[in-house]
Amino acid sequence: MDLKLPFDPVKRALEVEGVVMRGDRRLYYRFRPARYYGGIVTADAIGCSFLCAYCWNYKRNLNPERFGKFYSPRDVASKLLDIARKKGFHLYRITGCEPILGENSLKHLIGVIRIVSEEDPGAGFIVETNGLVLGYSKDMVNYLKFPNLMVRVAIKGVDEDSFELVTGAKKEFFMYPIKAVRFLQQENIRAWPAVMADLFTDSEIESLKEILEKENVKGELELEVLEKYPHVMENMKKRGVPVKRDLRGHHENV
Ligand code: SF4
Repeated sequence: MDLKLPFDPVKRALEVEGVVMRGDRRLYYRFRPARYYGGIVTADAIGCSFLCAYCWNYKRNLNPERFGKFYSPRDVASKLLDIARKKGFHLYRITGCEPILGENSLKHLIGVIRIVSEEDPGAGFIVETNGLVLGYSKDMVNYLKFPNLMVRVAIKGVDEDSFELVTGAKKEFFMYPIKAVRFLQQENIRAWPAVMADLFTDSEIESLKEILEKENVKGELELEVLEKYPHVMENMKKRGVPVKRDLRGHHENV
């Protein structure tokens, strides 16, 4: 796909949705057990409204049309449930992508969550989102009312400039992910903000916390730790995104 930075991420979300969705089927490229969150069944999908300099799925999200296969919600749920049975896991997620690009991808996501919840009652489902579309279209939040659902919203910058630098999206969209957390919490959906802490100083993180507080976002800001894959470090360098500190330890991003 043609992409000049900075871009309009709402427009891109819809363009990408047009590529990664076919009817109710979405492009995925892998299903696996993963060690994060203490053991989680994971579906790796393709397609995002942002193009973060540190995205570990950068090449697929830059050119989604070149990768993956289309799967229906039923296909995805079956694959996930199969892995869950083998591993004894009861936690699920879709990652590598933005799961909510528009109505069609949202319906697909809900389909997966519904089938998994019916067949593995009591299991948890974590939606990892960049929050753009949920912050932009508040009504979509209402479709995410599942008792077992948790939503982690990645806040990509501490201000407009860092948001644009990290995501490649225009700076005026900075506040939408923050609004998304508030909208979710207002509907009593369990949601929290997260930020890639290696990219920011302590005082920058503090300034983000102040913004979150002003926006009435409740709960702790999760500090993610950068996974320094060679291709990630190369892209960060190319895009001029500095690593401001080295927070090694456990990682919750992929
Ligand atoms: S929001 Fe997530 S999936 Fe999308 S480009 Fe950024 S890191 Fe990758």
